Amino acid sequence: MNAITLRDLDGLGVERLKGVGDKKRASLAAVDITTLLDLVTTYPRRWVDRTNEARIADLVPGEEALVLVTVRSVSKRPTRNRRSMVNVNVGDGSGRIDLVFFNQPWRERQLQPGLQVALFGKVDVYRGGLQMSNPIVDLIGDRTGKIVPIYPQSEKAQINTWEMAGWVEETLRRCAERGIADPVPAGVRRRHGLIDRAGALTGIHLPEDMKQKERARYRLAFDELLRVQLVLVVRKRAMERESLGIVHTVDGELVERFYGSLPFPLTAAQTRVIGEIGVDLRSAHPMHRLLQGDVGSGKTVVAVATMLAAVQGGHQAALMAPTEVLAEQHAASVREMLAGVSVPDPGNLFGDRPLRVELLTNRVTGTERKDVLAGLADGSVDIAIGTHALIQDAVGFGSLGVVVVDEQHRFGVEQRAALRDKTADGAVPDTLVMTATPIPRTAAMTVYGDLDVSVLDEMPPGRTPIVTMWANGPLMETAVWNDIRAEVAAGRQAYVVCPLIGESEKLEVASAEETHERLAGDELAGLRLGLLHGRLTPAEKEATMARFRDGELDVLVATTVIEVGVDVPNATVMAILDADRFGIAQLHQLRGRVGRGGHASTCWLVTQQQEDPAAGNPRVEALVATTDGFELAEVDLDLRGEGTLMSTAQKGRSDLKLASLRRDRALVEIAREAAFEIVDADPHLAAHPDLADELDLMFSDRDEAFLTKG
Ligand code: ADP
Ligand code: MG
Repeated sequence: MNAITLRDLDGLGVERLKGVGDKKRASLAAVDITTLLDLVTTYPRRWVDRTNEARIADLVPGEEALVLVTVRSVSKRPTRNRRSMVNVNVGDGSGRIDLVFFNQPWRERQLQPGLQVALFGKVDVYRGGLQMSNPIVDLIGDRTGKIVPIYPQSEKAQINTWEMAGWVEETLRRCAERGIADPVPAGVRRRHGLIDRAGALTGIHLPEDMKQKERARYRLAFDELLRVQLVLVVRKRAMERESLGIVHTVDGELVERFYGSLPFPLTAAQTRVIGEIGVDLRSAHPMHRLLQGDVGSGKTVVAVATMLAAVQGGHQAALMAPTEVLAEQHAASVREMLAGVSVPDPGNLFGDRPLRVELLTNRVTGTERKDVLAGLADGSVDIAIGTHALIQDAVGFGSLGVVVVDEQHRFGVEQRAALRDKTADGAVPDTLVMTATPIPRTAAMTVYGDLDVSVLDEMPPGRTPIVTMWANGPLMETAVWNDIRAEVAAGRQAYVVCPLIGESEKLEVASAEETHERLAGDELAGLRLGLLHGRLTPAEKEATMARFRDGELDVLVATTVIEVGVDVPNATVMAILDADRFGIAQLHQLRGRVGRGGHASTCWLVTQQQEDPAAGNPRVEALVATTDGFELAEVDLDLRGEGTLMSTAQKGRSDLKLASLRRDRALVEIAREAAFEIVDADPHLAAHPDLADELDLMFSDRDEAFLTKG
């Protein structure tokens, strides 16, 4: 008989287990456990190590301890301030101790006399006796063994941890005869010191000691990461294999002219990244590269150099931005950057022709739109800059050679694919995805695992470091307005960023108008204030920006529309109101609008007075502590967890249950390496049917379709 696979386990319902009747089956279904696969991949959330367990007689006041006890008696009474207090008396063979729970009235029902529980908490002396208040309680039932697994319990679904443990144990025992299949090649396991899957499942659910549990977790976390990486690597290799790319010339005359026209030399990082991109552009396989670079690191230059490589070979380039405002800003800055650059053209009497850069958004309409569309189709538009409008059906390119996607706020894989498909001659354009939101390396490997990654890790010279300060409450806020007045008096300018209001642009605009009015009448009275938000027409926005740029406005009160692309070196102060409503990445992005010139700059993060100063404000404090985007990205990952990073493609069954992009950084790299090793030797996983089948089982239909297509 063949060893049991995850597919087999998935085919067996939980009702096959002893003690799972209709009622328990319904309870399990309520927590999404219907098959034995669901059951064995529901891992304990904690393990109580009874070898560390203390006896009540040995407890020391002031110290934390773990004790295993039996509930003796329970009582509940209200306290004077109408809250509840539950008193519990527990004991082991050596003595007794009182527990007190505040505001947890349900403990009275939970802690029935006779129940075995593990308690973890600090021991205090109270009225001459020992007491634990609000300890961590794990119900362990009558489980024996040195390590007791504690499963996620659901009061509502009426399933407790020892029932879970019993069912898992029974499942594993019944698998033992046939054994559990291990689809990961033995060579890979050996090289990376991974135990086999059967041992890992036993080790995580029924460990003999904590070391065994750790080895088991390592192996099972590896499996989760390997599956994700296999999907990504198979996709990456298939894309490389199956698509015909364009062989670009990277060091031609046009690109040289562009470098020559820049008022500054490239930074070492720009030179290195342009080199990495150049290798891709020259190859016959289409590029799929992610360019990560902090705000202000000079990504635009890299993007333009990349697009010009296509143009000088007679192809077109497209730059796609997530919003119309951003597309407009990109168009303005690219046009400015290329103002003096013309295209060498042997067919032209003068040897040169002008470079044609066009904007295409939904705001470009009528004959103007017709012109642009015609120019895209006949190839006379060299560089097209736009939004999603660029990938609409009606838009066709003569010969699209390079696509740059500014993924400020994440374009989906589908959108990238749609743009790649917009090509007349069958060749797939080279794609560069830019992001200003730095992503930790291992997270990038997972979220963008089908892309190669380049990093601009150096800032252009001539910037002064930004000092960031937290204005906690109204008293500190006064200092902010004083600072802005002082800077304006010294000839500098300031931004005031208005509070973020949910998802509603309308509310946000209202709040910006209100803030503008308040500041103009009060805190910043007498200064020249401008207002910028998303509901203004492009002409109005441009007029306001121009006045600010030209120094006709002292202070720009704005919504997050200034997040990207605004570049006024004379602006040296920024105040972000209700800063704690923004995410780390967005605060960092906003802050990048100051510190762009030679003057010292300040960013004030204004919050309401924090009630409990000791509670801190981790996001605001992180911004105060560093201006390094990658460091902030790591903090962000720590604070938010990886859930927020994963795209829908990695959600569902394949969710990382044990692995953490944060804690398991090294393991992500190992899994990726192993995935390359496996796929490069066996691109269609033909020699690894169990592995292929497992991916099929664990991933969504869309991923499945992709895998089987290859
Ligand atoms: P990003 O898009 O990465 O935020 P930009 O491309 O907008 O950054 O560049 C930020 C600023 O730095 C721009 O004003 C740009 O002209 C300038 N810049 C870019 N590269 C260099 C360089 N090598 N030396 C000096 N300044 C540069
Ligand atoms: Mg830019």
